[in-house]
Amino acid sequence: MSELTRFLYTPHYAPDKPYYVYSVDCDSPEKISGFIQGYMKCTHCGKGNHFRFYINSKNRHLAKCPDCKEVFLDIEDF
Ligand SMILES: [Zn+2]
Repeated sequence: MSELTRFLYTPHYAPDKPYYVYSVDCDSPEKISGFIQGYMKCTHCGKGNHFRFYINSKNRHLAKCPDCKEVFLDIEDF
């Protein structure tokens, strides 16, 4: 099951534009440089959030929606 940790991400190329990201299954995410990270929309309720992943499974990522709590599969296109 995916555990989410919300953190404020500050891109090194845009330090004045931090935004919130949900880290999947890692409770101490790197806050400046992204690993596998992107904006995904929940396939259940349609709400979008930024997610961070630490496991690369052939561009398919399981995430849990922080809004409706459903788990959904994203196929990477970012
Ligand atoms: Zn949802």
